[in-house]
Amino acid sequence: MYPQVLFRNRKAKRIATLDEYCGGGGYQALGDVLAKYAPKEVCALVEKANLRGRGGAGFPAAKKWEAVPEDGAFPRYLVANSDEMEPGTFKDRVLIHADPHTIIEGVAIAAYAISASKAFIFVRPDYESSAWILENEIEKAKQAGYLGKNILGSGYSLEVIVHRSGGRYICGEGTALLNALMGKRANPKKPPPYPTVEGLWGRPTVVNNIETLANVPHIVRNGPEWFNELSMVEKSGGTKIFSVSGRVKNPGCFELPMGVPLREIIEEHAGGMLPGLEFKTCLPGGASTRFLTPDLLDVRMDFDSMAEVGHRMGTGAIIVFDRKTCLVGATLNLTQFFMRESCGWCTPCREGLPYLKDLLWRIENGEGKEEYIPMIQSMCKHLWNSYCALAPGAASPIESLLTFFEDEVREHIVQKGCPFK
Ligand code: SF4
Repeated sequence: MYPQVLFRNRKAKRIATLDEYCGGGGYQALGDVLAKYAPKEVCALVEKANLRGRGGAGFPAAKKWEAVPEDGAFPRYLVANSDEMEPGTFKDRVLIHADPHTIIEGVAIAAYAISASKAFIFVRPDYESSAWILENEIEKAKQAGYLGKNILGSGYSLEVIVHRSGGRYICGEGTALLNALMGKRANPKKPPPYPTVEGLWGRPTVVNNIETLANVPHIVRNGPEWFNELSMVEKSGGTKIFSVSGRVKNPGCFELPMGVPLREIIEEHAGGMLPGLEFKTCLPGGASTRFLTPDLLDVRMDFDSMAEVGHRMGTGAIIVFDRKTCLVGATLNLTQFFMRESCGWCTPCREGLPYLKDLLWRIENGEGKEEYIPMIQSMCKHLWNSYCALAPGAASPIESLLTFFEDEVREHIVQKGCPFK
């Protein structure tokens, strides 16, 4: 059993209460920070801990905070992003339902580090029970003096608001999220200016994933060296919550050291394949990552190790497929999702995804032709010229389908239908 940091208070069927959280040292880090640390010192501590963004990009959290100009305008804002809508990703929901106060304390410390006076927790609308938990627990933290005006007598004040997303996948993209919060159409915006300089209502704004923020109190309380030691790799400290789904015996969320081998996650923690099924491939970091083949199962799950072998860890959402599952059908399903969720702003994504969906649908349903393969490859290249990361993310499973499973695609074309049906 590895050390549990974010899940240390995880219980069956209920959240950890404020008393339970405080009983284990909760909110001591916030008290220490407000009493003894300047905002810059908090950033330095988190930088030393090598805390990298858990929302998929792996960008160093402290570097983002430090990108807020010292002489930047006020008020400043922090946004905790929990708009997880990508198929296969469910770690934020489990974290909120396990220990909401580690998120709330993390929000308060991060907001102090950037001198923000208001923070939003941006929640997927389907997560109504999560939003409700957060609202209730924020109120309890406020009553206890950990939020609101003059926190713990420090003179620092912070208001935290739970905001339910409008319910589109693109609302989780950092800049589209800010537009959504301001009541505008949720189109992404290309920087510069970066949100850390001109974000919500033109003021400096930092957007962090909630898992990233939940780590912050533990870094302050136990020190950056302790945090780095939790990890199996350098340059990326701490643990990571992996959500595993698909054809495994024990799907679920597992908190494991950063850099744990992928094989160990699937075969030990997720219980291995369901009886009688054989591993074929997995999407290692959510629906917008590439299919990973069995020869890479021993890769370490961290941002850098995955990049070295041409993959992305993304959100750590591992979707496992067995040999009897049709990957053309699975990729068609994902492409339909991304097509539906395109914001329609730029042409390659708006027009390209329906085109790709149509070609994949034809192949899956017995109308495929040999020439569709280069047509798909060509259109995927165009998706990389889109305005935001949605389209390249949508291209990733399709491109890897053709790279690693072209034979399976051809079999559909030759047999005039799906060989798995
Ligand atoms: S890539 Fe897609 S989601 Fe992103 S801006 Fe273009 S149309 Fe919108």
